[in-house]
Amino acid sequence: MVLAFVEHDGGELDDASAQTLTLARDLATGVDEPLEAIAFGPEATAVAHDAGVYGATVVNAVEHDDLDNYAPEAYARTVVQCAEGTGTDAVVAPGTDRGSEVLAHAAAKLDETMAAEVVEVDPDGDAYQLTRQRWGGTLLEHARLDADTKVLTVAPNEVSASPTDDDPADVNPFTPDLEAGDLRVQCLRTEASDTEGVPLGEARIVVSGGRGTDGDFEALEELAERLPDAAVGASRAAVNEGWRPHDDQIGQTGTKIAPEIYIPCGISGAVQHMVGCKGAENILAVNTDPDAAIVGKADWVVVANLHEVVPAVVEELDRR
Ligand code: FAD
Repeated sequence: MVLAFVEHDGGELDDASAQTLTLARDLATGVDEPLEAIAFGPEATAVAHDAGVYGATVVNAVEHDDLDNYAPEAYARTVVQCAEGTGTDAVVAPGTDRGSEVLAHAAAKLDETMAAEVVEVDPDGDAYQLTRQRWGGTLLEHARLDADTKVLTVAPNEVSASPTDDDPADVNPFTPDLEAGDLRVQCLRTEASDTEGVPLGEARIVVSGGRGTDGDFEALEELAERLPDAAVGASRAAVNEGWRPHDDQIGQTGTKIAPEIYIPCGISGAVQHMVGCKGAENILAVNTDPDAAIVGKADWVVVANLHEVVPAVVEELDRR
């Protein structure tokens, strides 16, 4: 079996989990094993529809009072118990905060190594040939993973999620046998951030600002409001200045985005910023400096003052 840990919102898979199932499906076909998913929470059984669409035949649904809230070690114990005794070839998860944390604990409990941020995997006898990201995605590493149970996370937004015509997965209610100490760390409360509109990671268009905005994001917000499914982001310099919340940060230590169009304004294009937007299909940069690093990385560049260009674009959109 190939077992995929998936995350969901009320039974609806998130993008990274759909991408993970897509990679896991190809892997399961390659090793001639079935693909199963494992989902947690009160609506885990509702994942059956989406998991089936992405190729899982079974969803192991963990609906357990102690596990309604995220608890990394208990989740890992559950994943390991679900995998054990079934000749599981691989345990796979999205390379999100939670997926990475759960699989790191699971790998330790299985006494196996973990390969993180995988973008491609090919079976090679009893081992796997992997391509994985290093240094925030600036480097691709080819590696061979030889283990009884291979444990790997899939780099978000690097694999296209591709649905099938398959039926919903069967549901297997799964109850773990938790041990003392598994619930040492539990998420007690989740607060939605008060940012309105489209989440940054899901926006079709992202307008973002850096130090060059001088803290004035008004025109950038107005532009985003006028574009379809658009969100406002920021560089770390802008976040460090306190101009934007950390949720808005794009980059190595922020959100990774994959919009159709990315519009960085007053952002120099440091490598730590660019690893967060390398999934963007097109980049349209606004910068006063024709020698800024972003100029060489963008598809289009407007060499001009953002405080003039962005309000002019907003005005033109309103005029039409
Ligand atoms: P600057 O580099 O100062 O660039 C400002 C740009 O604005 C310049 O190109 C300038 O020409 C232009 N400009 C100025 N005025 C105007 C104007 N009126 N109109 C148009 N253009 C103008 N950074 C991130 O963004 N995200 C991360 O996740 C991140 N993680 C990091 C992790 C580590 C471990 C480290 C060491 C650094 C990290 N950084 C990150 C910081 C990164 O190295 C850069 O310092 C940061 O991205 C710079 O932000 P900036 O481009 O807004 O500012």
